[in-house]
Amino acid sequence: MTPFPAPLTDRYRRFKHRHFEPNIEQYEELATYGQAPEVMIVSCCDSRVDPETIFSAMPGELFVMRNVANLIPPYETGGTYHGVSAAIEFAVLNLRIKHLVIMGHSGCGGVKAALDRETARETEGQFITKWMSMLETARLKVLASHQGSSRNDMVAELEREGIKTSLQNLRTFPFLNALESKGRITLHGAYFDIATGQLSALNESTGLFYAL
Ligand SMILES: [Zn+2]
Repeated sequence: MTPFPAPLTDRYRRFKHRHFEPNIEQYEELATYGQAPEVMIVSCCDSRVDPETIFSAMPGELFVMRNVANLIPPYETGGTYHGVSAAIEFAVLNLRIKHLVIMGHSGCGGVKAALDRETARETEGQFITKWMSMLETARLKVLASHQGSSRNDMVAELEREGIKTSLQNLRTFPFLNALESKGRITLHGAYFDIATGQLSALNESTGLFYAL
């Protein structure tokens, strides 16, 4: 038998003792009545950008989906497996979440890979390249409007543009679009700066982010 990693076992035991046991009634309630989060967060897989930590969330409060570069593909019904669409469908139609937040971040490896297509090591499946090609239009926009800018500035701009692309793609989901026009769900963009801890929110009318 392969032993379970000791550092994870230690951390789990710490969680059980320091967090689970003092909150056992809340866990029992969640187990009995199910989850009813009002907020869905889409964030990057990046280990430094954890939504539950950033929003001081307790279990049951946030419905979280993480993927490379916090992207939402456009609505499509073909193909085989649609993990992102399945999570959105469940959150929007079954949990009836009220807010959906796309949270991007600084220093995103996926966005860097999208910008210069050389950063990431890949298999022949080229999963990262294909996934990040969702940002091609945003990439061309950033390259055109930031000629002469440093590469870091361009990455930071593409990180923000990527959030807008995901919001646009979210609105191609007919069921989500219908609920948004009835005011039953609101979509938000947010950007987390890892070095400063600053979270900013997107003002969709100006296209600018403001500090929270
Ligand atoms: Zn990232």
